[in-house]
Amino acid sequence: MSAWYKSFSRKSRKASLTTLLIGLVILTVCLTFTILLIGSYKSKKQSLVETTLSLNHLMASKMSQTIDALFISMRSSLKYSADKLAANPAMPAKELDTHLEMLRNSNGYFNSITRVDETGRILSVEPKSIGTANMSVSSEAGLEALALKKPYVSKPYKTATTQRLIVMISEPIFDDSGAYRGFISGSIYLHESNILNMIFGSTEIDESGTYYYVVSSEGYLLFHPDRSRIGENVSSNSVVQEIMLGHSGSGRIVNQQGIHQLAGYSVVPANRWGVVEISPKSIMDEQLKHHIQAMLIYICPPFFVLLIGSIWLARKLAQPFVNLADWISRHGKERIVAVTPTNHWNREADLLTKTIQSTLYTIQTKTDQLAREAQLDPLTGLLNRRSLESMFLEWKELEIEFTLLLMDIDRFKAVNDSYGHQAGDEVLKLLARVATDHVRPFDACFRLGGEEFVILLKNTRLESAVLVAERIRKAIERTENPTGATITVSIGLSHYPSCGTTPEKVMHQADQALYKAKQEGRNRTRTSNEERL
Ligand code: GH3
Ligand code: MG
Ligand code: MG
Repeated sequence: MSAWYKSFSRKSRKASLTTLLIGLVILTVCLTFTILLIGSYKSKKQSLVETTLSLNHLMASKMSQTIDALFISMRSSLKYSADKLAANPAMPAKELDTHLEMLRNSNGYFNSITRVDETGRILSVEPKSIGTANMSVSSEAGLEALALKKPYVSKPYKTATTQRLIVMISEPIFDDSGAYRGFISGSIYLHESNILNMIFGSTEIDESGTYYYVVSSEGYLLFHPDRSRIGENVSSNSVVQEIMLGHSGSGRIVNQQGIHQLAGYSVVPANRWGVVEISPKSIMDEQLKHHIQAMLIYICPPFFVLLIGSIWLARKLAQPFVNLADWISRHGKERIVAVTPTNHWNREADLLTKTIQSTLYTIQTKTDQLAREAQLDPLTGLLNRRSLESMFLEWKELEIEFTLLLMDIDRFKAVNDSYGHQAGDEVLKLLARVATDHVRPFDACFRLGGEEFVILLKNTRLESAVLVAERIRKAIERTENPTGATITVSIGLSHYPSCGTTPEKVMHQADQALYKAKQEGRNRTRTSNEERL
């Protein structure tokens, strides 16, 4: 057999039922466990995203309400001042300075306050250190406020003198006659400590990575934890675009660095600025990790118990079938004597086991009976020719010395002819009984066929065997038989191993001796070594 064929037949060995069932159980439990874990992970992630989005929207709304209230308050303080100045348009310079100083210091809304007349001349500025008093307004925002003659909020811009990034909020002044008398404006220095820092200052990026930023209605950053970005135009950001359209809400965005973020945003009604609260999506990773760990702690033990229990059950289920297969495969190779009655709690296994056990038992009994019958002669019940050969070989194997006695009824044909075949059979049976009665239990009697018999006399030398043969011969001669006539036999003897070492040889020698007995007149015993008795 080639090596290839050997390896192929090794590979094609069948898997046992126990292995298959246990494999199925492990696969099912592992798949269920994985599906449960993935399902839980996905739903937890979804709920975390939704919670974070709505929380960020809520926080952005609250913050926009705060800024809205603040802005309204800032504007009314400017309006109050504008009304005061309208009532006294020719206020002396000193008094104007004091008024602006009081306005700036009383509420801390603005970093600086400026009074500009209708021609664009700066009448007073607080703090004076800015040094623009008596100069003409040159900034785009100042000129626009003058031209508009309305309440105005500028976009962030850099001042020409101090190069500060500011946002200007102005209120027009109209005197009693309704004539435009310039404006009063408050500025917020975006890069310095200001009213927005006061609100958001303590809420820079927290440990979870969540932070706020504020954008103007044109999309410029007014407040951001990263101060270097203040003043930057971020109108390309999708959330900022929503704010610029006046929408509030929440959504997922990808920032310029490609980081996925969860944003809640809300428009400040009073000035259309927008507040955005941002959480990086990665803040959920930690929470998800904890969730999975907790899941594993709670799910692993019951799943482990389930796995062990299922394996135990699978083995229990497979056991009767494994036993049956084992039993059936042994049945072909060895003799199963006792059938142990087994009871199974599984109906099919129980039924199958009992049926197979009883079938095999019946087969075994029948086989035994057939084997027994195959060794016997049906007429006399003696062993047959096949048994003689196997016993000869068995004794030879065990090195047992014996004498073979070959016996033939004299003129038996005549017995049949005279008394009928039936009577002949009776004679054969009687002769078998007489022979059996005259040998020891460990000797063996055979009918070779016809009216020829063989007796193996165990551990018996030729001389002793002659005596036994003579005893049998005389007993037969003496014994009454169904024919009423005298029946005699002739006997030939040969000894193993002295007369031959093969069955054929020993048998041939005995046959020769028998032939001699017949030749010499029948009803006598002769041995193979020509010895005359
Ligand atoms: P010999 O003394 O030379 O042995 O003469 P014989 O007549 O016994 O020899 P032979 O071998 O010619 O005859 C054997 C006879 O045995 C022939 C047959 O009718 C008879 N016989 C063989 N088997 C049976 C049997 O099973 N039953 C009966 N009744 N007769 C049998
Ligand atoms: Mg014969
Ligand atoms: Mg004969």
